[in-house]
Amino acid sequence: MASLEEQNQPKLVDGRARNIVNLRISVTDRCNFRCTYCMPADNVEFMHRDKLLTFEEITRIVQIASGMGICRLRLTGGEPLMRKDLPVLIRMLAEVEGIEDIAMTTNAFFLKEHAETLKEAGLQRLNISLDALDPEKFRHVNRKDCLNEVLEGIKIAADVGFKSIKINAVAIRNFSETEIMRLVEMGRSDGFEIRFIEFMPLDSDQTWERDKVLFGHEIVDFIRKKYELIPVENSLEIGPASEYNFADGKGRVGIITAVSNPFCDHCNRIRITANGKLRTCLFSTHETDLKELIRGGASDEDIIKTIRGAVLNKEPGHKINLDDFERPHRAMHAIGG
Ligand code: SAM
Ligand code: SF4
Repeated sequence: MASLEEQNQPKLVDGRARNIVNLRISVTDRCNFRCTYCMPADNVEFMHRDKLLTFEEITRIVQIASGMGICRLRLTGGEPLMRKDLPVLIRMLAEVEGIEDIAMTTNAFFLKEHAETLKEAGLQRLNISLDALDPEKFRHVNRKDCLNEVLEGIKIAADVGFKSIKINAVAIRNFSETEIMRLVEMGRSDGFEIRFIEFMPLDSDQTWERDKVLFGHEIVDFIRKKYELIPVENSLEIGPASEYNFADGKGRVGIITAVSNPFCDHCNRIRITANGKLRTCLFSTHETDLKELIRGGASDEDIIKTIRGAVLNKEPGHKINLDDFERPHRAMHAIGG
């Protein structure tokens, strides 16, 4: 297939000249965990099954988007492994011309049974959520008592040989302090980059307050009490994390300062919810319905035009730190983190 330039097609660029190459695809809003920073403890109203994009519909969107310059995909949710036959979708996406990278974010619970099939299907990279290594703290924050299953899932995934496995921990004040060094030591000994993500106001329970965020600079200070850290140059231009190498050469940590120092200026991603709504920002309060378009018989040209129009109006950045900040109507599990 000819390159975008050869086809004379403009890339997918927003109104602030940000070149969009990343698409995050939520495949379900369901989850077997109930993390306090994401979902309510009970009475969750899930999307109706026939409202979910089918694998064929997701693949069509990806085919169209790849023709517009999207080359990196991340599957997420809810818990993506709650979606039946996920490897089938991965295989379909891996065959789409122009897709160079397929990653997934998961809580690792089901990796024990699926890691190998996922890799064989074409999944290249994993981000695994793990907030605490203390079993009681794990149970408290994830509202599920299964640290051992998660650690086993991580081990099996590591043995399968993915291109990269990163561990994500949400950083919450008066909770994460005891876990930072435990996670850092695990990362150093087992060869994982640990990334701390500042707690964002996307929890269903709406208990978020600025005082509950453990800030990135505090985490860096914490780690520096024991280890010398060398900042990786320009890491924020490549991804959402400010990255640091351990001076002794034993790996790397990442800090995602989504609240205290957002990376919006370099944001190159868009998202699709499990029910087919295009979101141009994690914090969007407006969505574009691609599912209705597809189910209404829209042509590829119509869909291209709609995606381009939405991306042109991509939000300059989130407004968490401004007085007129408005929470998105959806919580994290229904957006796709
Ligand atoms: N269930 C999978 C998991 O937990 O890895 C994928 C979906 S989850 C919504 C994606 C990521 O969002 C996870 O790394 C999770 O820790 C993060 N996340 C969820 N709610 C968050 C919040 N309020 N602030 C910061 N990160 C959050
Ligand atoms: Fe589930 Fe992931 Fe949300 Fe936790 S963060 S409740 S594992 S979707």
